[in-house]
Amino acid sequence: MSYNTLNMLNLTNKTVILRADLNVPAHDGVVTDFTRIDRLIPTIDYLRSQNTKIVVISHYGRPKGQVNPDYSLSFLTTVLIDRWSCPVHFSEDCIGEDAQAQINDMGEGEVMLLENLRFHAGEEKNDKAFAAALAQLGDVYVNDAFSATHRAHASIDAITALLPSAAGLLVEEELSNLEQILKTPEQPIAAVVGGAKISTKLSLLKNLVTQVDYLILGGGMANTFLLAKGLGVGKSLVEANMIGEAKDIMQAAQDADCQIVLPIDVNCATEFAAGAQCEIQTTSTIQDDLMVLDVGPESIANVKEILATCKTVIWNGPMGAFEIRPFDIGTNELAQVVAKLTKDGKVKSVAGGGDTVAALDGTDSSKDFTYISTAGGAFLEWLEGKTLPGIAALENNKKAA
Ligand code: AMP
Repeated sequence: MSYNTLNMLNLTNKTVILRADLNVPAHDGVVTDFTRIDRLIPTIDYLRSQNTKIVVISHYGRPKGQVNPDYSLSFLTTVLIDRWSCPVHFSEDCIGEDAQAQINDMGEGEVMLLENLRFHAGEEKNDKAFAAALAQLGDVYVNDAFSATHRAHASIDAITALLPSAAGLLVEEELSNLEQILKTPEQPIAAVVGGAKISTKLSLLKNLVTQVDYLILGGGMANTFLLAKGLGVGKSLVEANMIGEAKDIMQAAQDADCQIVLPIDVNCATEFAAGAQCEIQTTSTIQDDLMVLDVGPESIANVKEILATCKTVIWNGPMGAFEIRPFDIGTNELAQVVAKLTKDGKVKSVAGGGDTVAALDGTDSSKDFTYISTAGGAFLEWLEGKTLPGIAALENNKKAA
């Protein structure tokens, strides 16, 4: 099965509804990572070259079906003008007569950014009436929100039945890269998985142990594994209710001949705060009043040795609480190791996941990875071999424009 690509649709002078993922990291209204915005530039440029009007739709945060100014997309208007180098207007609702009138008044080659889709409950419910109201605003639908394709929401799924639909250039690029590098990966394979919790990545971990040679764990989630092995983790972030799951994953790894690599030593502090006094402890002697906030130097050296024997590296999630120095060291140093191995042609490396790109950008090493996915959940679900509803919807609705 396949989907329409942009060049398969007659787009000239059409109004294109472009599903983007503008759910970008921001702090106090300032975007802190432009990756998702910048990776849309090829599609924006292509659509502009076809003299289309571009109606950009996106979600932002979790306003739960209610209008909530804290989750307005309006602050991105000037950012998009700057990054996309084109006129961008803003409409205060993503459906309705006002939005329609504004789109009618707009010139070709211009962009209308519509307000947060999730201000309407119909979006997350995949509601057909809401999808129809969105579809009314354009002639053609393009999905370039790869990082949202794991959600069967109205702007991702239901809308494809109503308009000629195609994948945007970013969706195409993501899928072709992931398939090329990871469909039949060169072995040995290491997966580096970090982040806060096991619970959000359970099915990923279960799936990975059957596919990779080394599952290298860091971040808060490694604490639960340490606890499951009978080691104390002080007052660290830990999911005590997941000990059973952690044991099951360790057993499954053993059965599948996958080696789980846990930290040997860790960087700890008494509190999770910038400038906190920190100390390295071996994982067998973590004091009760300390919390683990990063992997330690011996762990980094150990992982470095393992990675040097591998041909493929998959990375999701930071090795520590990277937002606060010095707990970014584990993530930064290992990212540099993977970047160097990649640059030297020794491994192929793919990273993706919510905080992962921001974490890897700490040392600028992400540019040397073979591929960086803009997606978090969608990347993980793709890795698990799950069908992505947004891609299935494009495949099932291949009407020509
Ligand atoms: P995730 O979204 O699951 O990939 O988790 C990313 C978050 O995990 C980041 O905000 C990190 O600060 C946090 N994190 C990673 N390691 C730790 C740790 N040892 N203790 C507390 N938080 C952590």
